[in-house]
Amino acid sequence: MVVVMDTDAAAADVSAVVAKVEAAGGSAFVSRGVARTIIGLVGDVELFGTLNLRSLSGVSDVLRVSAPYKLVSRQNHPTMTTVYVGADDNRVAIGPATFTLIAGPCAVESEEQTVRAAQLAKAAGATLLRGGAYKPRTSPYAFQGLGRRGLEILAQVGREVGMPVVTEVVDAHDVDLVAEHADMLQVGTRNMQNFALLQAVGSVGRPVLLKRGLQATVEEWLMAAEYVAQRGNLDIVLCERGIRTFETATRNTLDISAVPVLHAMSHLPVVVDPSHASGRRELVVPLARAAIAAGADGVMVDVHPEPENALCDGPQALEGDDLRALAEAVRILPPLLGRRTGQPR
Ligand code: PEP
Ligand code: MN
Repeated sequence: MVVVMDTDAAAADVSAVVAKVEAAGGSAFVSRGVARTIIGLVGDVELFGTLNLRSLSGVSDVLRVSAPYKLVSRQNHPTMTTVYVGADDNRVAIGPATFTLIAGPCAVESEEQTVRAAQLAKAAGATLLRGGAYKPRTSPYAFQGLGRRGLEILAQVGREVGMPVVTEVVDAHDVDLVAEHADMLQVGTRNMQNFALLQAVGSVGRPVLLKRGLQATVEEWLMAAEYVAQRGNLDIVLCERGIRTFETATRNTLDISAVPVLHAMSHLPVVVDPSHASGRRELVVPLARAAIAAGADGVMVDVHPEPENALCDGPQALEGDDLRALAEAVRILPPLLGRRTGQPR
């Protein structure tokens, strides 16, 4: 931590800062420049944060040098993490050596729809099946998901097609139930800063897919990941899914720069969801290609056998030619960047 003094700070002001830091068990190193004095602090940064140094006379600013997100920071952990999802033969790796396609219906609607969507996803090269049983809908009148029955369907279809499954949990009370049925727990955009939920998913021993909050900065997102990590779970995959901007041509604005930015700031894998970012089927493939080019460790897309009859997010769901184009992009592009990929079957 660095304390920057005002240009007209008195020597007594500098001594007061040093005394307060030393009384708290830290060390303070004073450098006097031509215009102003700065004081470097060594010791417990969190403790320094409680000293209210900014309020002392003559202090202009107090700056953190190390990242506040410690466990997920790349500073403290330079090797990139690979997160493994599922067990045995169907285990899926998400990390720097691979490119992972996660696909499936936005919502589990029925057994038949989920089976058909899973088959489409698998044929397109997906190795991890998605599907929502608890849907956090903007309108209370919209389809809210099948709940427990949806979890059972998803788990059963995952076993049938040989894919581990990821599904969203929206309530801390449901974490154990969802963890019984799912290989990976998703925290959605609306819950990125639901700290009780983050702590609960961090404690249950399943990998976590943490989507970016609609209005969250990258740092806030990493602090949310820190809540999960702090509970002993470092198996976290970050998912960029678009943020809210002034632009209305797309549902949200995909922040593609978040991919290389996060890779520099954190050791956690990063995937991109171009379906929820754009809300429009015709944009999903171009944005998926952009995500691959930007270095994403995977993409997650909505797939539906009959998008026109989907109970949730039909306009962004892929099938037919769009899904074939996505499969081709996912097969051809990642190997050009040195990544292994699941082959279409
Ligand atoms: C989802 O992936 O099903 C979903 C609801 O996404 P988001 O939280 O990004 O809106
Ligand atoms: Mn959706």
